[in-house]
Amino acid sequence: MNVVLGSPAAPGIGIGNAFILPEEQERIIPKRRISQEEVEPEWKRFTDACRNVQNELNSHIQDEKISKDQHDVLETYLLMIQDPVFITELKAYMDKELFNIEFSINLKVADYADMLRNSGNEYLAERAQDIEDVFNRVIDVLLDYHSFDIEQIPDDSVIIGRTMKTSDTIILSKRKIAGLALTEGSSACHVAILAKSYGIPVVVAIDNAAHIASQGDTVIVDGNIGEVIVQPDIATITSTNTKIIAEQKYREQLKKYKDVPCKTEDGTEIKLYANIGTPEEATTALENGADGIGLFRTEFLFMDAAQKTSKETGAYSNSMSEEAQFQAYKKVLETMNGKPVTIRTLDVGGDKLVDSAEFPNMQEKNPLMGLRAIRMSLFCPAVFRTQLRALYRASIYGNLRILLPLITDVSQVETALGIARGIRSSLEEDGIPFNPDVPIGIMIETAAAAICADVLAPHAKFFSLGTNDLTQYILGIDRENKAVNPLYNEFSLAVLRMIKSTIFNANKFNLPLSVCGEMAGNKESAIILAGMGIRNLSMAPSHIPVIKETLSHFSISELENLSNRSVQ
Ligand code: PEP
Ligand code: MG
Repeated sequence: MNVVLGSPAAPGIGIGNAFILPEEQERIIPKRRISQEEVEPEWKRFTDACRNVQNELNSHIQDEKISKDQHDVLETYLLMIQDPVFITELKAYMDKELFNIEFSINLKVADYADMLRNSGNEYLAERAQDIEDVFNRVIDVLLDYHSFDIEQIPDDSVIIGRTMKTSDTIILSKRKIAGLALTEGSSACHVAILAKSYGIPVVVAIDNAAHIASQGDTVIVDGNIGEVIVQPDIATITSTNTKIIAEQKYREQLKKYKDVPCKTEDGTEIKLYANIGTPEEATTALENGADGIGLFRTEFLFMDAAQKTSKETGAYSNSMSEEAQFQAYKKVLETMNGKPVTIRTLDVGGDKLVDSAEFPNMQEKNPLMGLRAIRMSLFCPAVFRTQLRALYRASIYGNLRILLPLITDVSQVETALGIARGIRSSLEEDGIPFNPDVPIGIMIETAAAAICADVLAPHAKFFSLGTNDLTQYILGIDRENKAVNPLYNEFSLAVLRMIKSTIFNANKFNLPLSVCGEMAGNKESAIILAGMGIRNLSMAPSHIPVIKETLSHFSISELENLSNRSVQ
């Protein structure tokens, strides 16, 4: 038996079999001089690899389940892989420069794609990405490179590794995962946030997690105290099972709160909403007694769709069509049956990367300071327009509110509102029904937005405080970085003062205000927030009954006293 300590990042205790995440294999393209005699065998390797990719593309094309868009992308790939101009240039380069085939393809594809991008012809410029995609697959075949398929993780696994890509964490909603034990990460990272939503215990910041267990070992993850036990003895398994049963009993008891409103001891109502990342979670929200959806993080839909598209068809194409989005938003609105549903426009970028052709493929040095959220939406207006159109179309199926993430400036809000106006006009022209009065609100999650909340307020119908990013940006602490995680403190005076001043400005302008960061679902911080005057909290669905119970033990004046002690 081996006991390892880390930091608790999502509560609960799980027991299961270790699934060790493989390290992402680095894809290194070798560079090697070859002799004249090696050119022909190298060329044969190339033609064999091309045939292999062609066969794969053809088999995807024949799949009846793929969409028309995916079909078109695959057809284009097939044309590009046989492009006679490129192939002639590649062969001439090899004959003359005598480099191995992988290096030659990589170099010539980059030249060819640049030439297409600079051709001044829109159609040709769009083909640059296609030629890169398809010949990257040829290089993968030549290198025998396979990226890890997250779908391989079996039920009842404890996932152990250095880190998990945010785009991979969607697996947590599809499998019965017993727990996560990671070397990297923090309680505010999206992997932990999502795991929390699904009730999966997480321990992060474990030294060298990948080496603490072997594949299949029995592992206990205690996300309440940050402990991981590998190959526990019988006595430990028995005591863990007792703890798990006690937790289940506690959750059973909390069920009595499902249909009662959240009220302080002296009767003040505080609305509790759910944060979700997939339409299916709306049902979980209702099961936990949510008053509505306070935050639907739509980027996870895009990540999931992009992964599916590339897995099922190999095509690197746009991930979510307008229709697919419309169906997803409609489903949430219908499930919530008139309760408020706040859907946030894409917060892509930062750690939430979508492997899809509609977003620029950038290597940013500081992604959390980079092209993220509203900045990305305004950078890719076509994607933003499609999302807004889908949202407005869905608006007639329930009580929708649209939320804009990572606002730092009034001009961003004005531009976004202008685009939304355009969408409403085009829907009207097309005779498509929609609710013209959908409130559009903004996330207060940057220092700029919090400091200038009074300037932003006249442009917004509501505020939602994103305390995860707010803490990160006010303190200048990367929320994903384990090395500085002990400094990531949502209770720091600077953060609490920003929250207090945002509440003041929201009240001044009579704007509804909610908190949708992790602080809302944490007992201690929910007490402080309620004491500061917040009456709307949005959190992981499973935390709703816990917060209902917690707040019911305090009167408003007690909550105020507690919060006054924390914020001067
Ligand atoms: C936040 O920043 O507090 C928030 C709710 O958004 P996300 O965690 O998705 O960045
Ligand atoms: Mg945020």
